[in-house]
Amino acid sequence: MNRWRDVYCGAVRADAVGSTLAVAGWVARRRDHGGLVFIDLRDHTGIVQLVVNPERATEAAEAAHGIRSEFVLRAQGEVVRRADDAVNPNIATGEVEIQVDELEIVARSDPLPFQLDDDGVEEPVRLRYRYLDLRRDRMQQNLRLTATVVAAIRRSMEEQGFIDIWTPSMTLGTPEGARDFLVPVRLQPGKFFALAQSPQLFKQLFMIGGADRYYQIATCWRDEDLRADRQFEFRQLDLELAFPTRDDVLDVLERAVVASFEALGRTPPSRPFRRLSYADAMLRFGSDKPDLRFGLEIQDATEVTRGSQFGVFTNAECVRFLVVPDELSRAQLQRLEEFAKEWGAKGLAYLVVDGDGEVRSPIAKFLSEPELAAFASPPRSSVLFAADTPAVAERVLGALRTHLAEELGLVDAGRDELLWVLDFPLFERDEETGAWTFVHHPFTGPIEGHEDLIEKDPGRALSNAYDLVWNGWELGSGSIRIHRQDVQERIFRAMGMTDDEARAKFGWFLEALRMGTPPHGGFALGLDRFLALLAGESNIREVIAFPKTASGSDPLTGAPAPAPSERLAELGIKLDVPPQP
Ligand code: ASP
Repeated sequence: MNRWRDVYCGAVRADAVGSTLAVAGWVARRRDHGGLVFIDLRDHTGIVQLVVNPERATEAAEAAHGIRSEFVLRAQGEVVRRADDAVNPNIATGEVEIQVDELEIVARSDPLPFQLDDDGVEEPVRLRYRYLDLRRDRMQQNLRLTATVVAAIRRSMEEQGFIDIWTPSMTLGTPEGARDFLVPVRLQPGKFFALAQSPQLFKQLFMIGGADRYYQIATCWRDEDLRADRQFEFRQLDLELAFPTRDDVLDVLERAVVASFEALGRTPPSRPFRRLSYADAMLRFGSDKPDLRFGLEIQDATEVTRGSQFGVFTNAECVRFLVVPDELSRAQLQRLEEFAKEWGAKGLAYLVVDGDGEVRSPIAKFLSEPELAAFASPPRSSVLFAADTPAVAERVLGALRTHLAEELGLVDAGRDELLWVLDFPLFERDEETGAWTFVHHPFTGPIEGHEDLIEKDPGRALSNAYDLVWNGWELGSGSIRIHRQDVQERIFRAMGMTDDEARAKFGWFLEALRMGTPPHGGFALGLDRFLALLAGESNIREVIAFPKTASGSDPLTGAPAPAPSERLAELGIKLDVPPQP
């Protein structure tokens, strides 16, 4: 290859026996056997064993004694076949070793703060020394998987006629439901850019601008609390199409997802992906991102319990239940009741069916024959009820469903379940103010025939929005947009904005909508979530080279950091809060 090496460490094979090759990499392990020194040399492709024999190479043998883990070496020597009893079937280079003639210490290393093969290192330490953490197999694999998938996505998008266009990071706040990160502007003290929560309005402008099919692997910034699937900054496969049907958008995404699986040599999910309406998802799974790797479907018993002798059922707006394939004990039921209360339930009514099919329950005596027949369940099972408003029943049973699936080991980890959730509501009530607010974002159009509901019955209006869900994770969302200025204004009005407010905030966009806007729609796929799932990781930090910790800092660089007072003065900023140490 060049003066440093002829091959990668992991590529030295039996067909090279007899040839002289140079390799370069890090010392994974060094074993001193009196005269002979064995070194496992590692690069991103794997490990090759070097043997330094003083009888063959005196100088190399002297150097070898001073070598420690993670030194960087260049070694040259003859590839030889290992003795039969020394063959290591666990590594690809296990049949051979290199008898070293020349050995160069290219760089030394301090003793590392942790062993690279120790799986129990705490995350703050891993992030503090992320460059060492990245040397591990797991992280190398994740980085490479990311690159493979991003390349496959780009290929798929280009094949589907999309063009990659860049959009600004520093912009005006975009309403995606999170807080903006603000950027002060020295040339205009007192004014701020927002870091784009997504390229939403710019991609819509691309459609007005005639781009037809836009995509970008876009970085987005949102000032939200961090979680396993959330970081301040994250990447999206962002896209938008002119003159689409909803199914066109779903098709584009399905192709990109399938291309990603194929690029990794995996069996892709079969197309078209399963589809569920939002209403169905909430009714049957109590979630708009249901995990379908297990059953535990929620059932509705509102009809059969009208006029029930059990007051809790009769007085509730709806009665729903879950059949759990386990004869739950009193202690388990008590814990589940506590759990249900945390999710807003007032209590947890239940029936337990024992091994003989006998029903054990404090409420059984109140239930009529038809009720008991409706709840009939196999021996050794339990029926858990939520009797409340639909919203509370969905929330409680949805939470119980996922909790119990994990606790009882019902999740089939070998399965992948991708699905589209369709027809979300257009509006929901803001929990704090009680006013109508958007569910997706305010540029989402209603489904055909629901325009009139914007004013008449906002709570019943459905939107043309769709989410992609994989094993209970929301991978992304999109919608067919509003392309008419009057409809856009009506949506703003329904959300309680006066026309003046709407114009002050979005006048520039409303104006654009009046200048020949084609129907358009699109999607954004959360790339980090997608990659984490593909990599079998449960936290997106594992597929981000330099993520922030859960408290929002970077232990490696120490960011965020206080700003020098001269910089703040230039920006016209006076701090009200003393900077945290
Ligand atoms: N901008 C939206 C988001 O970031 C996605 C979309 O509607 O295309 O979630």
